[in-house]
Amino acid sequence: MLVGVPKEIKNNEFRVGLTPASVHELVAHGHQVLVQAGAGAGIGLLDEHYLAAGADLVATAADIFERAEMIVKVKEPQAAECAMLRPGQILYTYLHLAPDPEQTAALVASGAVCIAYETITGPGGGLPLLAPMSEVAGRMAIQAGAAHLEKSRGGMGLLLGGVPGVAAGHVVVIGAGVVGTNALQMAVGSGARVTVLDKNVDRLRQLDLVYGNRIATLYSTTHALEEAVLAADLVIGGVLVPGAAAPKLVTRAMVARMQKGAVVVDVAIDQGGCFATSRSTTHADPTFVVDGVVHYCVANMPGAVARTSTFALNNATIGHALALANKGWRRALRDDVHLCHGLNVCQGKVTYQAVAAALGHDY
Ligand code: NAD
Repeated sequence: MLVGVPKEIKNNEFRVGLTPASVHELVAHGHQVLVQAGAGAGIGLLDEHYLAAGADLVATAADIFERAEMIVKVKEPQAAECAMLRPGQILYTYLHLAPDPEQTAALVASGAVCIAYETITGPGGGLPLLAPMSEVAGRMAIQAGAAHLEKSRGGMGLLLGGVPGVAAGHVVVIGAGVVGTNALQMAVGSGARVTVLDKNVDRLRQLDLVYGNRIATLYSTTHALEEAVLAADLVIGGVLVPGAAAPKLVTRAMVARMQKGAVVVDVAIDQGGCFATSRSTTHADPTFVVDGVVHYCVANMPGAVARTSTFALNNATIGHALALANKGWRRALRDDVHLCHGLNVCQGKVTYQAVAAALGHDY
């Protein structure tokens, strides 16, 4: 199959659909890969690396959209990209269509076969093509939180791990899913005191087995949450209620009673956030202060570490990319129900029920 990788054109997006290693994998299976010149340059994946992996370089995105049978990207296609898609062409990328009627209409009109990373399921449950970005965001949350505890960034002037003779900082992690587990792993590694809350007791049991008395686990009630948050130096919000906006677990009144100079990192901000005081911010201006508490609420945290995120994403996407290239989309989807769950738009029809329901399309 002829596979194409255009340079991402969304503002401040430096990730790239295929790494040179992924290109090598496809080429080794007999496929041809076209990469737009400079597609990975922002994260040190240079044209010569792609050439060495067996790719052919082309100058423009139009060259790719015109020729490739499958387009592999990271972000949802922008309007100019949607306009270049062809009937029957495979588009394999993040789409997030439910809140995006314009993009959905453009993809339906294109006649392309659009497979969304975020709805592909895994044999063990969960959403394996979303998980790597939650891993990145969870780990980054501690890095970002620790940095903002510094005085110059508005924090109370606290070193998370303490030093001999001085107590370490206290990190509270709300939600023990992928984000929460990765955050607490980094927090424990930094030497901080860590408390994690979740409503899923089985999850707390698993963490207790792994970390023992290095962490405290708490069942997430309003009372437990309030006590923990008021005592915290850094709070990480990593809750998710699938298909719903994040519950506002930390109220405005709780924030007002938190320590001055404490930091909250609301990773769940892409679902509205779990602090009543949260609003979405950007990497260019990541924080704001409410009642003396620094809020870091960047909705696309993995974008800041685009190189790591690209490799992590490729680890999760290359298997299905190979199946699509080897078998063609019809057989690849027939053979793998989990990949089939990724099909959101197919040759002029919305084929994912939640998207159709959200946007009033036929299904
Ligand atoms: P996940 O499903 O793995 O984990 C969510 C956890 O929240 C679950 O363990 C669940 O039991 C727990 N939970 C639900 N209600 C709770 C409550 N009332 N109290 C305590 N815990 C509760 O989800 P995830 O992959 O860890 O993602 C978490 C959030 O982070 C999602 O909204 C996701 O979209 C977001 N996210 C944001 C970014 C970003 O850049 N900001 C990046 C990746 C993920």
